[in-house]
Amino acid sequence: MIPTAAAQAKQGPSMLRDRLQDPALLREACYIDGTWVGPPSFSVNNPATGMELAKVPQLSADGCTRAVEAAERAFLTWAKHTAKQRSNILRKWYELIVANREDLALILTSEQGKPLSEALGEVDIGGAYVEFFAEEARRIYGETIPSPRPDARLLAIKQPIGVCGAITPWNFPNSMITRKVSPALAAGCTVVLKPASETPLSALALVALAEKAGVPKGVFNVITGDSRSIGKVFCEHPAVRFVGFTGSTEVGKILYRQASVGVKKLGLELGGNAPFVVFDDADIEAAVEGAMVSKYRNMGQTCVCANRIYAQAGIYDEFVRKLSKKVAAMKIGDGTEQGVVQGPLINMEAVDKIERHIADAVERGAKVVTGGKRHALGRSFFEPTVLADVRPDSLVSQEETFGPLAPVIHFKDEADVIAMCNASPFGLASYFYSRDLGRVWRVAEALESGMVGVNTGLITTEVAPFGGVKESGLGREGSRHGMEEYVEIKYVMMAGL
Ligand code: ADP
Repeated sequence: MIPTAAAQAKQGPSMLRDRLQDPALLREACYIDGTWVGPPSFSVNNPATGMELAKVPQLSADGCTRAVEAAERAFLTWAKHTAKQRSNILRKWYELIVANREDLALILTSEQGKPLSEALGEVDIGGAYVEFFAEEARRIYGETIPSPRPDARLLAIKQPIGVCGAITPWNFPNSMITRKVSPALAAGCTVVLKPASETPLSALALVALAEKAGVPKGVFNVITGDSRSIGKVFCEHPAVRFVGFTGSTEVGKILYRQASVGVKKLGLELGGNAPFVVFDDADIEAAVEGAMVSKYRNMGQTCVCANRIYAQAGIYDEFVRKLSKKVAAMKIGDGTEQGVVQGPLINMEAVDKIERHIADAVERGAKVVTGGKRHALGRSFFEPTVLADVRPDSLVSQEETFGPLAPVIHFKDEADVIAMCNASPFGLASYFYSRDLGRVWRVAEALESGMVGVNTGLITTEVAPFGGVKESGLGREGSRHGMEEYVEIKYVMMAGL
């Protein structure tokens, strides 16, 4: 018998809860001022099955204001904790993330769709940000400045900026949160986080662990609900001093405009359109491996995914052949199944976009080498695709696809490909493969992007500054630079000495 929708809806939450070692990690409430707040309202569904996993509250401006004001009160005491006290609490949070990594990964795959092995990887790097910033908490140094006056001494101290609003996307429901929240807390700031509506359960599990780690009430609040009104409160409430956002360029621009009302400092991690270049002198096997990782990780749904692949004439055919062979062999399915390396896309709009990009490229003369259509599994499953002979002016080379589509474009020489790479309003990540040391330096310096991967398709790590140039955003996350967003420099002159 086919279960009714209502029966399925009932089954969903209990099924995920039953599979968790700690069922208390599946929360259906927001966390404000140290209290779990309901009522559950909108459904969070599993993109692989369509089944409801849980319901979370639908808060709007009022709920957000309450959370901001709780964070404002908590800031008074949290900022006065010593660096070591804050560091110890963050360290404890990190240890709990590690201890619960399997549950966190299962929640993540269930709400987002990525294969469990990738979800475990994300939880690990999510934890690594917390560990790193627990360490950095004790290294927020100021400076003394040689004085221009004999009677004065000058110094610059760093102080926490204040209450921070954070808005995160669905593609990395765990690590995008810790990458913002842990430097904020380390610096002495307090946070109100609004996770993506598609994937709030990872955020709620993370804050449940933060509560257990001893993060005091009001220091880290998580609210789910109406993104527009919450974003507006972040941009306009006088207590909020910094708004950190990861998501689309479109929404980033809305926030940039709104933030002018309250002159908020902004951190924006927006869209990319990463070029991936394979020169004739590249190690082809390595380039194919790099392209697989860069393009197909998270089903192509990362802002640093290779979006347009440029291959030079001498290796073009070999590269396309080897890449397609690997792509055609990928196992697709529910991310919790053994051996699956490609899950469903987040929703049907994602499927529409990839189809639009394929149709446009094919209309301009591209060939489908492998994939090219919706997968037999239905829903938002899509066959990982390789297109050859893609024209450089195709839609796919101008817009981020955010899906498992590798368009391979021909190029002649170094100058030609650098010009194509830089002919974009975006500048987040770029990648290239070459074994010529002179070329490596020339191209790395010429590419207009915040990050460059040379002979690698995977560059994200907690110890390096992540961020973009041009319309890809403002500021950096991760590394010691990631702390800069959350501190203000105060200059003090002590005169009359
Ligand atoms: P994506 O394409 O990844 O869904 P979005 O930019 O639409 O990117 O969403 C990223 C985050 O921004 C999500 O948490 C979403 O709810 C939130 N968001 C969407 N629209 C707005 C808005 N107008 N103001 C504030 N946040 C928004």
